[in-house]
Amino acid sequence: NEEKSLNFLEEIIEEDIRNGKNDGRVLTRFPPEPNGYLHIGHAKSICLNFGLAQRYQGKTNLRFDDTNPVTEDVEYVDSIKHDIKWLGFQWEEELYTSDYFDTLYQFAIQLIKKELAYVDDSTPEEIAVSKGTPTEPGKATSYRSRSIEENLRLFEEMKEGKHPDGSKVLRAKIDLANPNMHMRDPLLYRIKHAHHHRTGDKWCIYPMYDFAHGQSDSIEKITHSVCTLEFIPHRTLYDWLIENIGIFPSKQYEFARLNMTYTVMSKRRLLQLVNEKYVEGWDDPRMPTISGLRRRGYTPASIRNFCERIGVAKRENVIDVGLLEFCIREDLNKTAWRRMAVLDPVKLIISNYPEGKEEILHGENNPEVEGGEGERAIPFSRELWIEREDFMENAPKKFFRLGPGLSVRLKNAYIVTCDDFVKDDAGNITEIYCSYIPNSKSGEDTSGLKVKGTIHWVSVPHAKRAEVRLYDRLFKLENPLATEGDFKESINPESLQILDNVYIEPDLANAVPGKGYQFIRKGYFTLDTRSTTEHLVFNRTVGLRDTWAK
Ligand code: ATP
Ligand code: MG
Ligand code: MG
Repeated sequence: NEEKSLNFLEEIIEEDIRNGKNDGRVLTRFPPEPNGYLHIGHAKSICLNFGLAQRYQGKTNLRFDDTNPVTEDVEYVDSIKHDIKWLGFQWEEELYTSDYFDTLYQFAIQLIKKELAYVDDSTPEEIAVSKGTPTEPGKATSYRSRSIEENLRLFEEMKEGKHPDGSKVLRAKIDLANPNMHMRDPLLYRIKHAHHHRTGDKWCIYPMYDFAHGQSDSIEKITHSVCTLEFIPHRTLYDWLIENIGIFPSKQYEFARLNMTYTVMSKRRLLQLVNEKYVEGWDDPRMPTISGLRRRGYTPASIRNFCERIGVAKRENVIDVGLLEFCIREDLNKTAWRRMAVLDPVKLIISNYPEGKEEILHGENNPEVEGGEGERAIPFSRELWIEREDFMENAPKKFFRLGPGLSVRLKNAYIVTCDDFVKDDAGNITEIYCSYIPNSKSGEDTSGLKVKGTIHWVSVPHAKRAEVRLYDRLFKLENPLATEGDFKESINPESLQILDNVYIEPDLANAVPGKGYQFIRKGYFTLDTRSTTEHLVFNRTVGLRDTWAK
């Protein structure tokens, strides 16, 4: 019963608890910007933040980082909440950075009064010049020496809307020669006359990420603020602001973001795929979004398990998407109910089975568990649909399916032997004639016959028709961004294959989205969220074959 070794964040937290820091309290936060739907990378951050809190009897806040009025929307807020709950987590408080705008404004005034912030009228180009380069120190703009009074007056005017967008910014007054570029008088506020989805038109100045994030952490008394590696150089500023404003000392820690092969993982790029109609929407089953994975048939447990397996690293890496597929396959193998569906049908007629006769056979729902989770009724009759590929006119030696003179077991039913077949003018097989062995019924077989192959089928008069969607990777390149041109040029034109003439066993009419089914020999499927009783649509979640695990 070996204990899993601690990841570096768990080590930090345990050390903090040992030292009585924050009275042993652990409060993390998940801080999405509501400018898109969550993706599998966010799932990693969610599992990490909520997981750490759970492990140490702490809590996690959900904080919408809504400081950019132009790109944000309530549609995104709602989808984010839905996705987090679906993943199986419950936040302590639902908070919005915009609720802190008044407090943040007061913090800025405090800094101005301490001569630690100033209003700068320079253009973006002039500001860039003032910051210098990594090898050369920057140079003060003429506005850097403004008096406290002038700064207070101008900052208030900015807030009151007296100045147009881009005409002024508030900057921290730190050190234009600091080796860390983020410390070279970073911007704290910018003017943006834009309607905000929560604060309406109350504000026309908005705090920059660096000014909003750490201060929001501190206001909430977050103990461990976990973010991705790009923020390492921001940490000095994070600490500087908290120290100089004199507020609760939240601490920032960085881990490696999740990158995955054959996909892109940034909301900006995912939004392009949606807007330019490369996919059906944010929840297209080919998208790496949580909503896409859900619609595809991924379970919350499989995603949590994936996040657990990839662990928490301090160095960037790229995870094989095959590992995600492995995780869902492993889950569905244990939970999915078995059903029969014929994706490419051809008719099989049992000549010695009485016309008009039908019987009800039975099949276990789930052979992976004891008791099989019950059985479902499977109607059987003289005419069946079978898979076209399960018949070969000139079968090679090891083809253990159907061909002239060959015998096979029909799953949960009888052994049949092929006597004859019919072709159309184009040479396509249209009908296969067989005879069945009446005393070979599964479970009560007294025929003594041994056949090597078993194939799936559905009864023609009882079958329901459905559409099936098979998915392949959305991109042809392992790293879609590793191209000279636009990343969309590496989109896989065959990422969606629609089969519109599929026959399924009648019980599948009771399917609901999210419940996984193994279509025997064909993979794992779930009902599409847009499926209707008149037009059933199933999505293939993943194939049966495991191409990843060694
Ligand atoms: P994107 O670049 O996709 O837009 P983001 O970081 O801008 O992502 P946010 O809404 O700001 O998106 O992210 C919320 C949280 O999720 C942040 O703490 C961020 O660090 C984390 N996060 C985002 N992408 C990943 C990823 N690929 N792996 C791990 N964590 C991530
Ligand atoms: Mg962001
Ligand atoms: Mg980003």
